[in-house]
Order: sequence, then structure tokens, then C-alpha cells
Amino acid sequence: MSSGTRIVLLGRQGAGKGTQCLRLSRHYVVPHISTGDMLRAAVREDSALGRSVEKTIGGGGLVSDELIIEVVRGRLNKADTQQRGYILDGFPRTVVQAEALDLIAQDLPLLGAVDLVVPRDLVLNRLSVRRVCRDCGANYTVTGVVRSPWSCDTCGGDVVLRDDDTPDAINRRLDLYESQTAPLISFYGGTQRLHEVDGVGSQDEVFDRITEVIDRAGGGS
Ligand code: AMP
Repeated sequence: MSSGTRIVLLGRQGAGKGTQCLRLSRHYVVPHISTGDMLRAAVREDSALGRSVEKTIGGGGLVSDELIIEVVRGRLNKADTQQRGYILDGFPRTVVQAEALDLIAQDLPLLGAVDLVVPRDLVLNRLSVRRVCRDCGANYTVTGVVRSPWSCDTCGGDVVLRDDDTPDAINRRLDLYESQTAPLISFYGGTQRLHEVDGVGSQDEVFDRITEVIDRAGGGS
């Protein structure tokens, strides 16, 4: 079995992070930690956390650094992460979060940040046809008439249009990505932990590119 890994996947919404993270998580036998999935689950459960973030998520805004850092701190303290590592998806999204991650993960330091590079016009197209399983987060693409109801092939959950995959919210999220998240590229570049990967191509091609850089960075093997 692989020795696990500890990485962050960066990239615009719709760059394919979710799909690749699920595959990477199976390949390296490491938990896939998606802060978006965690927050959406909290909203579904109608927990205090869910109620406090529901509006922000639906509008395509970012929840506060303080809150999301506490969510990730709790998750990284769990036994599976401590033993195998982590593949973080959707976190960090700001430099404040990246600095906090370095502190939280002092004993399990990040091996690298993989930036999945896909141009904005391409992700806009992809997001407009994206549908997501409400339960397991699997992504689907609408190729013709939208199936209704649509059940997930993996878990049988409802496959739906995300509340924040509307044109307004998509544009807001992409703008926020440029302003808040793109500085992370300099943050990780400045500490020699950045690996840029071309995210255009088949899922297999992109997966091979990502595993190559992770293995070179010392994760897996
Ligand atoms: P995602 O599935 O990663 O696109 O996340 C969906 C939504 O959850 C985002 O648009 C934000 O509202 C919220 N969210 C997820 N991760 C973070 C984060 N690291 N910082 C702030 N907000 C986040």
C-alpha cells in the first residue's frame, strides 16, 4: 500500500479538483477533505454550523477564515488523517488559511500544493453543465436532456444542480478565486511547494500528471 500523502489541490471552481481528489484519495488511500462538501453536509443536517453558513454558500461568498480554520483543525485531528495524511480540496482559499494550515499541520507538514490550471472560459462551460451528487459529491455532466429524478451511480443519492452553480454565483466565485485564492500561488511558490499541472485533457491524463508531481514531491511510493 502507498505510504499516504499530504497535499492541497488548488484551482478554479470547475477545474476538476473534486473528480481528481476522489481518484487521488483512492490511489494514495488518504482521506479526501473537501471543505465545500463538509459545509454542504452541515447545511443538510441543519446543524448550527450549517445554519450559519447557508446564505454565504448559496450566494457564492466565502465563509470566515476563523470558522473554516476551526472546521479543518477538527478534521485534521482525526485518526485517519493522523495515520495516512490528507488531500485538501477547497482549503486553503486565502493566505490567512494557508498560514493557519502550516501551523495546524506542523506534525504532518504539507508536501506540496498542486495547482490545476484550467482557463476561466473553459471552467465556465464546465460549470454550466455540472451536476453533483448531494450525498457523496460525485460529479456528473449533462450531455442531453437533464434526467429527473437523477440518481447517483455510486451511492444512489440525488444528483442535483448546486445552489451556487447559477451564473451569478459562478461569476462571483470565480472573481473571488482571482482576488483571494490566486495569491496562494505566490504563497506556495515562494516556499518551493507549488506544482503547476495542466488541467486540460482527459481525466486519466490529468490524473497521471498529478500523481507524477506528487510522487516526485515524496508523497506516495
Ligand atoms: P466548494 O465546493 O469548494 O466550491 O465550496 C463551496 C462553498 O463553500 C464556497 O463557495 C464557500 O462559500 C464555502 N467554502 C468552502 N471552502 C471554503 C474555504 N476554505 N473558505 C471559505 N469558504 C469556503
